[in-house]
Amino acid sequence: MKQNDFESLKPGDWLGILGGGQLARMLAVAAARLGFNTIVFDPDKNCPAAAMANEHMVAAYDDVAALEALSARVSVITYEFENVPCGPLDGADLRCEIEPGTQALAIAQDRVLEKDFFNSIGIATAPYRQVDTLRDVEAAFAAIGAGILKTRHLGYDGKGQARITNIADIATSFAAMQGAPAVYEGFIAFEREVSVIAARFKNGAFTAFDLPENKHEGGILRQSILPAHITESTAMQAKAHSETLLAALGYVGVAGIEFFVMADGSLIANEYAPRVHNSGHWTEAACAISQFEQHIRAIAGLAPGVSVRHSDCVMHNLIGDDVYNVRQWLDTKNAHVHLYGKSEVRDGRKMGHVTVLSNKQH
Ligand code: ATP
Ligand code: MG
Repeated sequence: MKQNDFESLKPGDWLGILGGGQLARMLAVAAARLGFNTIVFDPDKNCPAAAMANEHMVAAYDDVAALEALSARVSVITYEFENVPCGPLDGADLRCEIEPGTQALAIAQDRVLEKDFFNSIGIATAPYRQVDTLRDVEAAFAAIGAGILKTRHLGYDGKGQARITNIADIATSFAAMQGAPAVYEGFIAFEREVSVIAARFKNGAFTAFDLPENKHEGGILRQSILPAHITESTAMQAKAHSETLLAALGYVGVAGIEFFVMADGSLIANEYAPRVHNSGHWTEAACAISQFEQHIRAIAGLAPGVSVRHSDCVMHNLIGDDVYNVRQWLDTKNAHVHLYGKSEVRDGRKMGHVTVLSNKQH
């Protein structure tokens, strides 16, 4: 099918974004650059995206009447975080499309379904077991060995996770889940972590940016480094897996797919995010078309942007107190500073990011 077999949106058309955090803020800017108008939907009247969108609907994510009202005003609804509840969206009488669809959202909301799905399409994951009781965790540890207990739902930035390296850790780790449904997954001794910032379009076209190499501390992304220290064949395999995943989901939009890279170059999928991804923020500085613009293009039925990287770079997240160093970054050569406009600084809170560009080596 050709691109123009689909109705594409025109400048002046309206887009709805569920969630008003920094990702929505950057999506709203990208949408505005393409001539679109945005309505951000977020219960927090001070959310970071409100200042960048044309309008802000202050409502709860399970307010079906408000979701329906949004759908009557926009041509397409998208979302910026994966914990938007699916039930109200599926139950509402919406007047417009939701892209990406709620199937991609529902699977990403449940680490068990997510791993089942990866495996069902031939993409390897860590060994895992659903665990509901202390007994289950003991049995999973006996079968899998050292690993990580994670809540099935609502985890982000490493929250809701507890490591188990020996039997003595089991009881405290299980207690830390506070009765929430959980999954136990084997600890992967990876060499590095990478992600694919992939996009799929309404005509099935697929694009992916170069893979960033991601450094985490305490479960939070600290840096994304371009290029990643991986072989071309590993990069191609990761992109091929990502294309398989997005095709299987019938996905439209940008997704972030996280992989562990083993010493032999093989890949293990960790998780996917059905949205723009923190490890893709460097694209706004090192590519002509950012992940945010690519997402807007995809959901608006426009042509894919060419996602070539023109520079090497390192993206540094500004987390909590890091934001007080912003003056230093403003004085740094080739540093592209982006702040999210959050007034309150909290430990572990993502306040902004900086992408430092350098000449492309290869
Ligand atoms: P986010 O949504 O911010 O990516 P999250 O809370 O969903 O985070 P994960 O991506 O599951 O959490 O884990 C965070 C980090 O913890 C991973 O990027 C990786 O560094 C480490 N980690 C997670 N699972 C494993 C594992 N099975 N083996 C080794 N390390 C792991
Ligand atoms: Mg993750």
